[in-house]
Amino acid sequence: MSMHTPLKFVDSHCHLDMLDLAEFDNNMDNVIALAKHNQVYDILSISVDLDSFPRVLKTAKNYPNVHASVGLHPCHSPEILTSIEQLSALSKDKKVIAIGETGLDYFMNDGRDPLNENFEWQRERFRIHIRTAIETQKPLIIHTRDARDDTLKILQEEHAEKIGGIMHCFVEDLPTAEKALEMGFYISFSGIVTFKNAKSIQEVAKFVPDDRLLIETDSPYLAPVPMRGKKNQPAYVAHIAEFLAQLRNTSVESIARLTRDNYLRLFCLVNNS
Ligand SMILES: [Zn+2]
Ligand SMILES: [Zn+2]
Repeated sequence: MSMHTPLKFVDSHCHLDMLDLAEFDNNMDNVIALAKHNQVYDILSISVDLDSFPRVLKTAKNYPNVHASVGLHPCHSPEILTSIEQLSALSKDKKVIAIGETGLDYFMNDGRDPLNENFEWQRERFRIHIRTAIETQKPLIIHTRDARDDTLKILQEEHAEKIGGIMHCFVEDLPTAEKALEMGFYISFSGIVTFKNAKSIQEVAKFVPDDRLLIETDSPYLAPVPMRGKKNQPAYVAHIAEFLAQLRNTSVESIARLTRDNYLRLFCLVNNS
């Protein structure tokens, strides 16, 4: 590799359809151009429900290096199940490269007691996503919050190691990361890893092997330091790479290259830029 090879970053998880386009002259072209200007070449735009999926897919179709996922986030469309048939049909388009985001979220910030909630529908829906991923051979995007034991248990019971995928916005402990790695999953870090109080997540981020590391913005949420408090966007993923480079005692070039290589390998994409 020449010293002058330009940096190329990937944002392995964002929600383009949730960005406030008013901040970008009401034009998605400006979001993508700003990302490119900051050397972000590849973007995976993640679906959270089936109603917004057509918009997510349409945007992906407009840009060569933007791809889409299809799935139901555990916090969206409560109680609604889907089916392997439905998800498989929606994932037929070549631009759809992943199933999710799916998983479990037992966090309640509205005063309800999680112990009194019946999350069985989340677990059933999670299983349907895993079975779809294995059937379609498209990797999983996993979201987990306050539910690490059940998430790992279901991944194991459903043999998610047959397809693998990404543990996105990772905030769990080292043993959880180790179990996910054993099942072939990649571990993706968002801006949370850059926060001062994120010491335990930083420990995990030091540990993840080079060939399983990914970065993401999860925009419009979770802007990284030094953009904390602003609305997030794919262009900011470089800040996470810079932070990880320092943490792992390597160069930002190396983090950019290995995370993008990991992304292209996981989703069998050709390096076309
Ligand atoms: Zn998530
Ligand atoms: Zn997300």
